[in-house]
Formats: sequence, C-alpha cells, structure tokens
Amino acid sequence: MSAEFRNELIALIEENRKAYTDMSDTIWGYAEPRFQEYKSSELQQEYMKSRGFSVKADLAGEETAFIAEFGSGKPVIGFLGEFDALSALQQEADKTERSPIEGMTNGHGCGHHLLGTASVAAADALKTYMEEHNLPGTIRYYGCPAEENAGGKAYLVRDGYFDDCDIALTWHPFAINKVMKGGYHLANFRAFFTFHGISSHAAGAPELGRSALDAVEMMDIGVNFMREHMIDAARVHGAITNAGGIAPNVIPSEAQILYAIRAPKVTQVKQLFDRMCDIAKGAALITGTTVEIKQVAAYSDVINNDTLNDMIQESLDQVIPIGYTEEELEYAKQFQEVTTVLDKEGLKAMAGELGRKELLPHPLWDTIIDKNTRFGGGGSSDVGDVSWVVPTGQVYTACYAAGTAMHSWQATAQGKSTIAHKGMLAAAKVMACVGADLLMNPEKVAQAKADWKEELNGEVYPNPLPADAKPEIW
Ligand SMILES: [Zn+2]
Repeated sequence: MSAEFRNELIALIEENRKAYTDMSDTIWGYAEPRFQEYKSSELQQEYMKSRGFSVKADLAGEETAFIAEFGSGKPVIGFLGEFDALSALQQEADKTERSPIEGMTNGHGCGHHLLGTASVAAADALKTYMEEHNLPGTIRYYGCPAEENAGGKAYLVRDGYFDDCDIALTWHPFAINKVMKGGYHLANFRAFFTFHGISSHAAGAPELGRSALDAVEMMDIGVNFMREHMIDAARVHGAITNAGGIAPNVIPSEAQILYAIRAPKVTQVKQLFDRMCDIAKGAALITGTTVEIKQVAAYSDVINNDTLNDMIQESLDQVIPIGYTEEELEYAKQFQEVTTVLDKEGLKAMAGELGRKELLPHPLWDTIIDKNTRFGGGGSSDVGDVSWVVPTGQVYTACYAAGTAMHSWQATAQGKSTIAHKGMLAAAKVMACVGADLLMNPEKVAQAKADWKEELNGEVYPNPLPADAKPEIW
C-alpha cells in the first residue's frame, strides 16, 4: 500500500505540534500523582471537547478517568493515555544537577505527560483524517489515571470500559525506537497484610499480649520458605508499612506488611498470592492474632500481537530517523555525563542485549531497534490488563538521552526538551498511522483478533482485582 496516507497523518500532527507540546509541558508542570491528576485530566478533556470529541469522565470510581470519543460503529480503536507523575522526582527542567523546584515533590520521571499527550494527538489527527476521507468507525482516547502504584487501567477493564473496544494502541517514552513486543513485562499484585493482636506490658504482663509484629515476622519467614518452591521468574518483595510502634515495652497490637508479587503470567501471580494468603493465616494462628488481607492493585502480563507489531513497524519505518540538531546532541551528551555508574553499565548491557554495541558512542539512538530483540523485562504495566481483553499494540520512541533510567530525576529534567517533544510526536504519528491503517483495512482488525485468540490459547482474563476493590491512594 502506498505510504501516502501516512504522510497526510504526519502532516496533520506537525500542523498542530504547538498545541501538543504546550499540553505536555503544562502537564509536566502540574506533576500530579496517581488519582490526583485533576488538572491534567481536565486539560485533556477540554482539549478533546474543543476538537469535537464527546467526553465522559469519572469512570470505574476513578474521578480523573475519561473517554473522549468520535465517530460511530465498528471498529472501535482506542488510544491509551496516562498523565500521572511520581513522588520524589521533582526536578527543574534541563538542569543536569539535582535541583527540585521548591515546594514541589512529584515529577514526571516516567514521561507520562508525553504518553497521554501523544495518544491525544494520535486520536485528534485521526479524527481529522476520518472526516476528510469519510472513514467509518469509532475512535477513542482513554485518559487512564494512576498507572504508577495503582494500576488504574485494571479498574476500567473490570468495569467494562473496554468490552466493545476492538483494538488498543499505546506507547511508552524511552531512549530507543522499537515495537514493544508483548510478553516481557511481569504481572504484579500488590496486597497489604494487616495483623491485629493484643497489646500489653511487654515485661509486666507478656502472657496477656499477642504481638502483631511477631505475626508479620512469621509471615515473612513463611514467604521466604516459599521462595524455594516457586518458579525462577517469580519475584516477591515486601515492605513493613507498620512495625507496630517504637516502644519495645509495649506489645504491638497492629502491624502491617505490603507485598509486591510478580511472575510472567497473571495466573501464576494469582497462585502465589493464594499461597501467601494461607501463609498469613498460618502466621496468625501461630501468634494468636488475626489477619486482614487487602489486595490493592493488579497488573497483568502483556499479551503479544504480531499483526499489530508488524503494522507498528511499517509506520515506525516511516517516522524514524527523527533527526536531531547539534544542540540536541550536545544536550543529550550533558545528560549522559550525569547518569550513574549503574546506568552506564546498564546502557552497555542494553546495547549488548539489543545487538547494537555500535550505538554506544551516540548520545541519542536515532535508529530502529529490531522488533524481535528481547527487551522490557522486570517491570509491570497496567496495559497488560487491557491486552487480555482487547488486542493491543505498543511502541517505544526515543525521548531521552541514551542510558537515561526511567523513574529518575534525570528523566524528569529532560521531559520538556525538544528531544522529548520530538519523540512524543513520533509516537503520535506511528499510532495515528496504525489507527488509519486499521480503519481502512478491516481485515487487519480481524487478523489482529485472530492473533490475540491464538496467543491466549483458551485462557480467559482472570479478573485479578477483587470485585469489591476500589481505586484508592494507599
Ligand atoms: Zn511509565
């Protein structure tokens, strides 16, 4: 197929680039953390309304969630966006030494200000294209809150907001350009285990007390014994969020531990979680306490989709190289000077894994990394939950100097640079082009769905959130 339609969409995004870069810069400045993205969400909602989208907000108990929609009928193509910041990552823009803006603590250290805005831009450009070419179908922008530490999308999935969606497209800012293959993220549950005992004088009447802290310790011992009998790829890590106080002469009546439980598949995480619930009950029995278990987040693994990957690749081929000025290369070099020794080691390891060691001397990796190279292990993303119910495609584009770690002040600092803007617009172009390709070629939607069924191989979404779990800040 001629690439002409892509040129048209690319031009539409370029025409409007100021609106998009202003939006991402403004959201960078708001730096609102999970479930508090009021101004960021409002800004995007107002923009989408002004562009002729209908908007419904406050979804699945998430006040800052919204869907902006245009068109009618099938297929329904959804662009997923985020806008939450991270705590303790405030940093002045462009500064290469640690320099938080006074009075602020949160910062966009994962680039979600770019993430949401590129998806807005993709939907916006595609709407204009649909109108100009009389294309049928529905497009949506999903404003998804709290990707970090709460898994906001899982609630939207649980409450049915993706039930009629045919394809989902999204991306993540990074330091490389690459199709983001599914299957490399870990599924993840977060759960609090709160033990209740009886306090008493630890010397005067120890026989009358039952220590909740003992129960937390027993539980952690049990979990450590479980490690020998779990799959290699699983990860369990805990934080004692309430140690029962600071007085050794008072038997603690309440203590709490928070665990993150990860494994390649959400079904494996669920099994580990069930075993840990039994361990908690055992710890309570041993110590004469009671336990309250509260699961607060679930992230599922990402289901791969090769049809969408191939389509993303074709559009990525047209958008990359991005092209940088001498000043931008110099800017990136300066940021490479301030990455940590660990980041530098990580960069070497990454170049090796990606089979592209020759890229190491370059401060910006303005090239496309082979889509089949394995990359993206370890972390978790709530896009996974969407991918279990809707065929989902994702892309990475370069928004930062090579070697920049995500969730760092160095990433926050680069978030308003022209490099970040260019990467964001590149992602918007890729997603808009794939969206148009799908609307014009319904057989590709069908093929993506067939792929998705094959990948799932009969497994159904295990709905990892308890029915009564509510989105909340914990
Ligand atoms: Zn992120």
